[in-house]
Amino acid sequence: MEVSIPLAPGSTIGILGGGQLGRMLAVAALQLGYRCIGYAPAGDNVAADACVDFFENGWGDTAALAAFASQCDVVTWEFENVPLSAINAIPDSMLAPNPKALEIAQDRLSEKRFVEELGAKCAPYMRVEGDADFARAIEHLGTPGILKTARDGYDGKGQWRVASAREAEGVRFPGRPCIYESMVDFVAEFSVILARAKDGTMRIWDSTANEHDGGILVHSVLPAGPAVESQVEAARAIARQTADALDYVGVLTLEFFATEGGPIFNEMAPRVHNSGHWTIEGAATSQFENHIRAICGLPLGGTETRFASVDMRNIVGDDATGAHRILLEAGEPHLHLYGKREAREGRKMGHVTRVAHKYP
Ligand code: AMP
Repeated sequence: MEVSIPLAPGSTIGILGGGQLGRMLAVAALQLGYRCIGYAPAGDNVAADACVDFFENGWGDTAALAAFASQCDVVTWEFENVPLSAINAIPDSMLAPNPKALEIAQDRLSEKRFVEELGAKCAPYMRVEGDADFARAIEHLGTPGILKTARDGYDGKGQWRVASAREAEGVRFPGRPCIYESMVDFVAEFSVILARAKDGTMRIWDSTANEHDGGILVHSVLPAGPAVESQVEAARAIARQTADALDYVGVLTLEFFATEGGPIFNEMAPRVHNSGHWTIEGAATSQFENHIRAICGLPLGGTETRFASVDMRNIVGDDATGAHRILLEAGEPHLHLYGKREAREGRKMGHVTRVAHKYP
């Protein structure tokens, strides 16, 4: 077994991407005595507030990427659509997790195939590259279904729901590779979030039941209920195999639908995940801390849930200026604001986690 040498306190972690996930990773890194430098194209890069330096440069700027990497001891990402060309500008030996995971997860088709080969079930799907393919997919798979762009989709973007064959006639093919998949009649949605260390040790958090609205996660809750609880073990087996097959280091998320016929894999995220935000207060170690521990070669912390119930709600689209009011509410709310300057529809501005004590 490879012995991991931990990164010394004061070492520098590079984070590709500038969103709230990077911000929360940087906070966890600070606690462990590390410093972070971020990199993302110009924008509302809220991770910069928690970083000692931040490169606002394009993904195609290889000179800036090289300068960024030269100041880091390890480089990770918080955004799964970092172009592979940018990843390739950074020495492989500095990157964690394995960039192969990013390559696979950036394409819906390749991630489904990868996880299917490990034994997971997916909703029936077909590759769609044009109008004729789309018509064929509707004919073979029927409706209802969803047309999704193969790449660059997140938070419900790049998705078109198709309720009937007639409705399909009104859907304009977006002109880039897509998949069409059957609508899953699910009982609940859940994700498996695990952390894997360099020596292969894995820790898995409890799975919350996740609720989405318009493709955006709005609510995660524990206990997740029997539909999820009865399927978590099968889903975990797939997640463990995926992490091992990728020799993954860090936090990995796989999303599933709980159905009458067992868990159906939806997609994976090679990073910390919104459905794991509850772990900051609700688990022995948060997903953010364990990601930092894993990529820095430190031992992983426990992932046990510390409370009888946990409830995480996203603050989506609202101007968060009055959000501190939430702290007056019952249920021990913990408020996290991401510091975004501009509220937009569907934009995640913060989240609130409520925990209930185990021993009343
Ligand atoms: P995705 O971007 O693939 O994670 O989709 C976002 C959300 O849309 C999911 O969490 C589900 O709530 C819903 N969704 C996506 N694909 C399907 C599907 N095949 N059947 C039912 N709901 C879906």
